[in-house]
Amino acid sequence: MSRSVLVTGGNRGIGLAIARAFADAGDKVAVTYRSGKPPVDLIDLGVLAVRCDITDPEQVEQAYKEVEAAHGNVEVLIANAGITKDQLLMRMTEEDFTSVLDTNLTGTFRVVKRANRGMLRARKGRVVLISSVVGLTGQAGQANYAASKAGLVGFARSLARELGSRNITFNVVAPGFVDTDMTRSLSDEQQAGIVAQVPLGRYAQVEEIAAVVRFLASDDASYITGAVIPVDGGLGMGH
Ligand code: NDP
Repeated sequence: MSRSVLVTGGNRGIGLAIARAFADAGDKVAVTYRSGKPPVDLIDLGVLAVRCDITDPEQVEQAYKEVEAAHGNVEVLIANAGITKDQLLMRMTEEDFTSVLDTNLTGTFRVVKRANRGMLRARKGRVVLISSVVGLTGQAGQANYAASKAGLVGFARSLARELGSRNITFNVVAPGFVDTDMTRSLSDEQQAGIVAQVPLGRYAQVEEIAAVVRFLASDDASYITGAVIPVDGGLGMGH
């Protein structure tokens, strides 16, 4: 059955692959973008693109209105939008910290809260949050980012308890290093250092993250909630 799926930050990177995976499976997909529009072939697949900065509650509300008008209530929400502002603690500014928290954690709160309205009414829903392996292991230079991604775990697990009786599941996907703009901005030396620590010896491709997200939103995952699923080539084993 075709469901109404919303992917935040679906114009590029992991979010784009997730949007494609749902659209290819026949779902009604909407993506939010902040600066750059999604590629034309995604729009050709029938995907609705809505401008939305998730740090702005009014834009979140407006985006939901547009999506609901086109596709009905959101039944599957993938909270994927996120940023990094890496810096050692000594040099990390207040703005470096709060802007990353405001996007990755509070922004996710905003979109999840708004989706929940329709899910409660429908007495069903699937929410998948995109965290990161570093939210579990920590990472030098990423205290802000790791804190935001760890926060998503407590957030999802609290909601899994709060809303399980309403047949709404909340799960977290924790990717390792994925081949996207976010990781391409690292130096060659940093990238080689990361790959050396990954048991599978390579970055993930975006499709490998999308496949797990789609599974968590499928009927096959109907009894999974509050889970943190690593998709990290073994990098975070034991955490
Ligand atoms: P990209 O940098 O390629 O894309 C980030 C996406 O988030 C873009 O669509 C961007 O929109 C959107 N976004 C950022 N800030 C906002 C905002 N304030 N409001 C709305 N949208 C926003 O990242 P990835 O695809 O690599 O990452 C996607 C998610 O996966 C992130 O949450 C990231 O933390 C996580 N992740 C990534 C890993 C990796 O190795 N790449 C590893 C582990 C987790 P725009 O294009 O308009 O800027």
